[in-house]
Amino acid sequence: MSRTIIQVKDLRKKYGEFEAVKGISFEVQEGEIFGLLGPNGAGKSTTLEIMETLRQKTSGEIRVDGFDLDKSPNEIKKIIGVQLQTSGYYPSLNLSELIDLFAGLYNEDIDPLELLDKVNLRDKAKAKFKELSGGQKQRFSIATTLINQPRIIFLDEPTTGLDPQARRNLWDLIRNIRNQGTTVIITTHYMDEAEVLCDRVAIIDSGKIIAINTPDRLIDELVEAGFEKPKEVKQANLEDVFIHLTGRALRDD
Ligand code: ADP
Repeated sequence: MSRTIIQVKDLRKKYGEFEAVKGISFEVQEGEIFGLLGPNGAGKSTTLEIMETLRQKTSGEIRVDGFDLDKSPNEIKKIIGVQLQTSGYYPSLNLSELIDLFAGLYNEDIDPLELLDKVNLRDKAKAKFKELSGGQKQRFSIATTLINQPRIIFLDEPTTGLDPQARRNLWDLIRNIRNQGTTVIITTHYMDEAEVLCDRVAIIDSGKIIAINTPDRLIDELVEAGFEKPKEVKQANLEDVFIHLTGRALRDD
């Protein structure tokens, strides 16, 4: 049976006079990939960073694994994994040394190579962060969320700017993390990504949740309401052609 791991009630965030998040409520179930989906400026990152305890809310209630965000932020920090800012990566350290450093900060005793293995970067253990490709950088960034063996990880637009192979590799990685029992909260403005990756999505627009459900249910409801695509849908698209021709194998992405 699924169990609620995050509860957000009537969350609001004002930047000065501007209300970026306008009273949103939702719940996340343990073990799901939950997507916050919406256009740029919708309030996704603001919502995510408030849940991560990195940004102050204006009002509302948040509980993470039973802990009240106002009363027990430190308890919450212990069980969540947050992507560390890439600008903060020490340029002279290699990936293995960076993981050692972060593990030390979290007081965790972990084997860097084992962690790099999880994100398919073992062969880059001696490389510097700046020497990685876009996809590899994102995979490393996801590895840093796993250092403290969290129950929940937060990913903010992890596939933005990646090519189709790198995106699909990242989706596989995120699914693997979820399959090992970690709940994943992800923001994206890619609808195709949300459709194939997320168990449930909340669609946010101008600081409000305008729909929340499984991608399948949302699509079915639209079709039941009489929506028809204006032209015949082909059985494949250009991205399928690209993947078919160039393969899905992990390469230097
Ligand atoms: P999204 O992640 O969906 O793109 P954000 O949460 O980053 O949206 O931003 C929501 C709105 O809040 C935007 O209009 C943005 O300009 C505004 N905003 C975000 N951060 C700040 C800030 N620190 N100060 C003022 N306005 C901000």
